[in-house]
Amino acid sequence: MKKQKIMRWFYPGIAIFIFSTYLIALLQDYIPNTVEVFLSTTMGMVSYSVMLTLVLIAIRPRQIEKHLELKAMYEVHAWMAIALIVTLFIHVFIRWSGLENIFTLEISDTSMLGYGGLISLFLVMITGIFVLSDVIIQKSDKLMEWKENKWNRNVHLWIHRLAIVSILFIYFHIWNVTYLSGNILLHTLNTIYTVFVLGSYFYYKIRIWRLPRYEVIANEMPTPDVHALQLKATKSDVMNYQPGQFGFFRFIDSDLPNEAHPFSFSSALDHESDIIEIMVKESGDWTSSLDIVKEGDQVTIEGPYGNFYPKEKENSDTPMILLSGGIGFTPSLSVLRHEMANNSDRRIAFLWGLHGEEDMIYTEELKRMADENKNFTFHLIFSGEEIEGYPHGHVDDTFIREEGLEEFYKTASWHVCGPPPMLEASKSLLAEQKVSKDQQYIEEFAF
Ligand SMILES: Cc1cc2nc3c(=O)[nH]c(=O)nc-3n(C[C@H](O)[C@H](O)[C@H](O)COP(=O)(O)OP(=O)(O)OC[C@H]3O[C@@H](n4cnc5c(N)ncnc54)[C@H](O)[C@@H]3O)c2cc1C
Repeated sequence: MKKQKIMRWFYPGIAIFIFSTYLIALLQDYIPNTVEVFLSTTMGMVSYSVMLTLVLIAIRPRQIEKHLELKAMYEVHAWMAIALIVTLFIHVFIRWSGLENIFTLEISDTSMLGYGGLISLFLVMITGIFVLSDVIIQKSDKLMEWKENKWNRNVHLWIHRLAIVSILFIYFHIWNVTYLSGNILLHTLNTIYTVFVLGSYFYYKIRIWRLPRYEVIANEMPTPDVHALQLKATKSDVMNYQPGQFGFFRFIDSDLPNEAHPFSFSSALDHESDIIEIMVKESGDWTSSLDIVKEGDQVTIEGPYGNFYPKEKENSDTPMILLSGGIGFTPSLSVLRHEMANNSDRRIAFLWGLHGEEDMIYTEELKRMADENKNFTFHLIFSGEEIEGYPHGHVDDTFIREEGLEEFYKTASWHVCGPPPMLEASKSLLAEQKVSKDQQYIEEFAF
């Protein structure tokens, strides 16, 4: 937890570093004419440093994600984007010479390039705030509803990529600033940073394009709204993933829109079969079109990402509680399959909150696991229909005590996964029961 908090400063730290070097370069060769120009220049530099860093976050490097979860990375991205808006506003506002100059086109090349960067960046911000990220708008139910019903995520993803165009505009804008023209150090640093960031971005794009392909070998529906997809690695080995991790799946030659969507692996790594399994609940336009996916379709997987079941939890004696809500059972199933395949002798309990009888899938497999491994128990509870033989309600303290699992508040590691409302309730429960943050591993099915 402490490490995560420190890691949250990793990307702001990069932006601060870039800005500090710009500032040093600026001060060693700067003849300030007014305070306004100095302030505007430094604010412009802060915003460009932040912009470059945001691209480095957007390429979701796995080496960083191991220490700072993707959700946290996207949160940092959202807050840094706000810092970008504020500093950019100050930069433009101080030097603002009125709209009439724009309409009469009496503006310098420098300003023209600046406006190019500004307009593209404005579109990038709108798409980011309202469509791609939940961080800010999730505070309002109305905005969330608006987002889900009125905006097409894929179109906005394309608009969001204008960030690269904006960077090019701003790079040349800086080249054109008269009072910076003799500052070789500043321009050298600026070129190095810009080339590095754009290079990393295009390298990432090429990597995605060249990812190994998997072939769909089954697309079944164990319930009316859940797809169980089996994907087989064809030309290379199956991806090396930890149980409970997730990847970004892109169906590249089917009629599905070519978007990358995150799904947790429900399979455990198996190098013999080379098969990866995912379970997808129909929850929006894209997932509800999955029935057009057929055997033989090609899929790429970007990843793996996630820290639901970190490597140090493997072969451990610590008891483990897997707490899932609805389709959030996918990473738990992966962990269970892994533990059972390794004849684990640790105590494991799987608590699963479901809505109704038709959500009851894989119970035969769970029963078999419990028969074969005496240290494993599973506990279902239904919040919608009343089902004979099962308790009614949500996974809460009462349920945990009724199932005789309360001792695990102190002793177990808690691996929780599900949709946002279920996670909020689970986090409150764990906080009330004083389960320490170090015992908690949380995967949320939203960014
Ligand atoms: C780490 C993680 C693991 C997940 N694992 C599973 C799983 O195993 N099974 C499962 O059924 N669902 C899983 N999900 C949720 C799943 O990714 C979304 O439900 C799905 O992408 C929604 O797509 P849609 O266009 O059909 O729905 P929409 O109605 O368009 O979107 C619903 C919500 O899903 C999110 N979303 C949509 N598209 C994307 C995207 N490309 N990238 C990120 N978020 C997006 C948005 O927050 C949006 O508000 C997971 C999500 C995350 C973040």
